[in-house]
Amino acid sequence: MQIVDAHSDYALKTFYDYLHGRENSLIEQHLPELKRGGVNIEVLTVGGDFDLYPGVKNRDPLIVFQIIDTLLQEIARSQGECILVRSKSDFELNTQLDTIGFMFAIEGAGMISNDFSILRNYYRLGLRCVMLTHNENNLLADGCGVKNPQGLTEYGYKFINEVEELGMVLDVSHSSEPSFWDIINNHTNPIIASHSNVRNLCDNVRNLTDEQIKVIAEKKGAIGINFYGGFIDKDMKNVNLERLIDHIDYIRDLVGIRYVGIGPDFLNYVEKDFSKEISKSTLSIGIDPEKVGNIEELREVSSLPILITKLKARGYSRDEIRKIMGKNFIRVYKAVFKE
Ligand SMILES: [Zn+2]
Repeated sequence: MQIVDAHSDYALKTFYDYLHGRENSLIEQHLPELKRGGVNIEVLTVGGDFDLYPGVKNRDPLIVFQIIDTLLQEIARSQGECILVRSKSDFELNTQLDTIGFMFAIEGAGMISNDFSILRNYYRLGLRCVMLTHNENNLLADGCGVKNPQGLTEYGYKFINEVEELGMVLDVSHSSEPSFWDIINNHTNPIIASHSNVRNLCDNVRNLTDEQIKVIAEKKGAIGINFYGGFIDKDMKNVNLERLIDHIDYIRDLVGIRYVGIGPDFLNYVEKDFSKEISKSTLSIGIDPEKVGNIEELREVSSLPILITKLKARGYSRDEIRKIMGKNFIRVYKAVFKE
């Protein structure tokens, strides 16, 4: 079974470590955790429109180049334990070599704005998944935390054409509803929501309405279930593994098993001190990080086998579990990649 974790931010922590003299945290800390979790493909955020770590200015285009460079250096030093995934054949290579494949993503493209040469250069370095915004707005579009969102700007439309032209995957996880529909109506390729849940089960702007879920399925995309408590249930008392699987059930029942995957957004490596950095942004989407927790038994990537056991107990077949755990996302990546 190939497991795909469609969204994780710890490359920003890796870069923070690098700045503080620890050069191998990807290999030393994260690789063993990924192995224990059985992960094959890990999608890493290498920049975006939000602050996660003090001193890591990942909204700056040059810093994103440095973050990518740090990761590529670590991958090169891993002696074949990990590879960079940037073409269709890399998914097979990844299985044959039994390595961990990293794929690069950005969570908000404010650092690119209307300079598409930056986007093309990131592509050359391995960037394959792109979100237009985080919760706020930028020159391209507005995110889900914006009041009175207007959708894509003139540059936003050009940007998504360039993304399609290059063969990168568009991710709508933080989009406002008008931005979402502008993307849907002007993009041919399948799209993903890498880390969003069902709004009917947890009413938050980061979660997807039934209409959004249906159109992502119509376009043959995929939705990655987010394990963060604030997107699982409004009431923290109900945040548990069963409730998380309710979101998977819901998508399966609404559109079928082919459109659901996992994008856990594990935050266990984010020390308490640093979480304050993003409080302003999460408060804009109605979430107070001080009051929201995660599912106790599923707090880190190494605990993913617990989800598989629970899915079996809930009656999912082996084939369905394979689709949820990775096959669906791999299908979308391969459909979008040009080479
Ligand atoms: Zn996010």
